[in-house]
Amino acid sequence: MNCPVDQTPLTRKIYEDAIEIDLCDACGGVWLDKGELEKIQDIKVNDYSEELKMIPDYVGKSILLAKSKNASPVHCPVCSQVLERREYGYGSQVMIDSCVQGHGVWLDKGELKDLELFYERSRVDTAKMRKGFLQGLLG
Ligand SMILES: [Zn+2]
Ligand SMILES: [Zn+2]
Repeated sequence: MNCPVDQTPLTRKIYEDAIEIDLCDACGGVWLDKGELEKIQDIKVNDYSEELKMIPDYVGKSILLAKSKNASPVHCPVCSQVLERREYGYGSQVMIDSCVQGHGVWLDKGELKDLELFYERSRVDTAKMRKGFLQGLLG
C-alpha cells in the first residue's frame, strides 16, 4: 500500500500496543483500516493534561488545519477512489479523509494526536457533567 499523498510505500506499525497503522515516513501521514479508528477512542495511554490546558490554542490551530485541507484530493490506497473530506465526530474540528467504500481513513501528520485530544476532551467534559449532575441532586 502506498501513501495517497506522495506514493511512498507505507510502513506497518503498532500504535499504543493496540492498533495497526500504516505510516508514511515521508510526510508523517497515517492510514487507518476500517475499525482501527474506533479502537483509538477506547484506549488511553498518553497523558494529554498539559495539552488540554492549552485548548484555546489547539482549537485555533485546528481551524487553520481544516482550512489548509482545501488542497488537492487524496485517493484511497485500497480502491483509488477520492476520499471524502469531513469533520470527524461532532465539533472535533479535526478533518479526516475517509473512503466512501469504507476501507479506512487517512490522517495527515498531527491529526491522529488531534483526534486523541478530542477524545480526551470529550471524556473530561463528560466527567464534569456527571459531577454537576450529582451536585444538583445533593444541593
Ligand atoms: Zn506520505
Ligand atoms: Zn477505498
